[in-house]
Amino acid sequence: MQKDNGKVDVFVLMQKIKDLYRNKLKKPYYYVPPCPNCGSLITGRFVKARNDYDADWLIDESLRHGEIVSPVPDVLSENCFCCDCNQTFTGIVKMQWMSLDELDEQKLKRDIYEIWQERISSQEQEKSRDSAFKKIVKQ
Ligand SMILES: [Zn+2]
Repeated sequence: MQKDNGKVDVFVLMQKIKDLYRNKLKKPYYYVPPCPNCGSLITGRFVKARNDYDADWLIDESLRHGEIVSPVPDVLSENCFCCDCNQTFTGIVKMQWMSLDELDEQKLKRDIYEIWQERISSQEQEKSRDSAFKKIVKQ
């Protein structure tokens, strides 16, 4: 009984340390302003990518971090876009330091989880299309 209590205390302490760490730790976040056309916060920015491999990596890493990016060969003056109304616009993208809680908030506000799901399912569709194609080729 005594031991169990000890374990619980350690667990609570660990959780407290984790929470403290979570809010102390700040990560850089490129904040894209809301859409000037429809007011949506599901906005992203264009980023320069050298090739397709680079582009895929950029999209994945950004989503993981709560940012929406669209890789292009060159970033023009209209550097932002809206996922709701497809408007492109010139926005001032500011780098901000955010805690993990603040990052989670951005992920929720920007529908990152839904976008991520859509991306995974479209990649899976592509994969199954590829394997179907390979089957046809082999026959
Ligand atoms: Zn919009």
